[in-house]
Amino acid sequence: MIVCKTKEELKTRISLWKKEGKTIGFAPTMGYLHSGHISLIEQSKAKADKTIVSLFVNPTQFNDPEDYLKYPLDMEGDLKKCKEAGVDLVFIPTKEVVYPDGTPDLIMKQPALQKNLCGRTRPNHFEGVMLVVSKLFHLLNPDFAFFGLKDYQQFRIIEEMVHILDFPIQVIGVPTLRERDGLAMSSRNVRLTEKERENASLIPRMFTLAGKLLVGGEKNPKVFHEILADFLLSSPEVKIDYIESVDPHTLQEKLTLDGELVLAIAVFLGKTRLIDNQRFSKI
Ligand code: AMP
Repeated sequence: MIVCKTKEELKTRISLWKKEGKTIGFAPTMGYLHSGHISLIEQSKAKADKTIVSLFVNPTQFNDPEDYLKYPLDMEGDLKKCKEAGVDLVFIPTKEVVYPDGTPDLIMKQPALQKNLCGRTRPNHFEGVMLVVSKLFHLLNPDFAFFGLKDYQQFRIIEEMVHILDFPIQVIGVPTLRERDGLAMSSRNVRLTEKERENASLIPRMFTLAGKLLVGGEKNPKVFHEILADFLLSSPEVKIDYIESVDPHTLQEKLTLDGELVLAIAVFLGKTRLIDNQRFSKI
């Protein structure tokens, strides 16, 4: 496995592969890898000749400086996991390598897709995501890019950015990998106390309840979200950032619960913010 720390090393290796006619799959991550990340790698290996993973905690996408400083790191463990998973190249730049001139004076925004969900409660987050992902896309020139559907709004925003800017890249959404109790795997889960982790299982149980309500004919989003919020708030440890039902393509709020919808939530357990979503089809 090749480990690159600079853009130059990376470009040299990639142009060699391109000359050999190899296709490249890319999974951008912020490290502290878990099985969810590994599933992106596995999909890439199934589709592309070469698989690249980036490990970079991107400062421009954190609206909360404390969240950035506390983001878990395990470079040694991550490199081991990448090697075991058969990754061909890992890119581990510092923030000085990615942003040599400091934070760039460039703002990318997709107002409609960013209007709801995390776009509303995490100002500047997706601007930072689009900036770093487009930089990485230019540097790596991948044929395929893999994003987890756990971060559904991120997936849609990147998919749309690639479409608007004509990046010659196929964006592939990878289903969410979950713990035994259904909690979505996340690098942030490690920050939960034992009690918070126990209470976190309310999240997957809330999605089960949501499915039952929809099957039972619930059409009113306000009533639906209130029942789900009450369920989550049965634990005093849970604080709700948002519970929303949106159209899977436009991410606009559903005014009535019919057709396809994505139910997405963000909650705080103590200081840790977790997000999750589930897609439902309702006839
Ligand atoms: P992160 O390191 O949290 O920025 O995540 C890197 C990529 O892994 C993103 O595309 C995430 O959506 C994806 N990812 C994170 N958690 C999971 C999961 N539980 N299952 C599948 N993909 C995931």
